[in-house]
Amino acid sequence: MRLFVAVALPQKLREFLRQAVRELPHRGRVRWTKPENLHLTLKFLGEVPEGSLEEVAAALEEVRRRHAPFEAAVSGLGAFPAPRRARVVWAGISEGAGPLAALAADLDETLHRRTGLEREQREYRAHITLGRPAGRPVSFDPEAISIPERRFRVEGFDLMRSVLKPGGPVYTPLGSFALEGDQGPHGH
Ligand code: ATP
Ligand code: MG
Repeated sequence: MRLFVAVALPQKLREFLRQAVRELPHRGRVRWTKPENLHLTLKFLGEVPEGSLEEVAAALEEVRRRHAPFEAAVSGLGAFPAPRRARVVWAGISEGAGPLAALAADLDETLHRRTGLEREQREYRAHITLGRPAGRPVSFDPEAISIPERRFRVEGFDLMRSVLKPGGPVYTPLGSFALEGDQGPHGH
């Protein structure tokens, strides 16, 4: 099954982002992410045999204990590789990029160690995918609309299953992993 690990976003934030991009002038056809599907990916596992699920879950359990909850914020628009020839249109992370990258690196390393999953070659860049071109790359001006800063708290991450369908991917959470709360002297 096709798996990834992501931070779920508050419903209000997802609706706000979906609404904001409706106003974005652009050239080319974009498939905008459905609001219920908006998320922040930490690690893409790809195809994993069902027999490895337990070990994957054990790795995530290990990671979640090493990180405390933190504040993050979304703001601004951007694109990979660039707004004039975008293959991914995204909302940026203006706060929490450090702890998100630390989580992503720990997931990458721990999954590799425990399940033999290949390590990510590319540098992690936290972003929320808002849309992708339906065909050729699209072009837009990232300053054309404003995505003001919206804060949210990262309390954990989810193991997600993705089923690719002609009408778009269907994501199903398989498990939730809460970040270890109190890391102070009274913690574990
Ligand atoms: P579709 O592929 O139909 O456009 P999708 O990309 O949302 O839909 P998946 O391909 O299953 O669905 O990806 C699930 C999540 O993992 C998404 O956040 C996606 O950006 C991310 N992802 C997919 N492939 C990779 C990859 N090779 N490296 C890093 N992240 C990836
Ligand atoms: Mg994809």
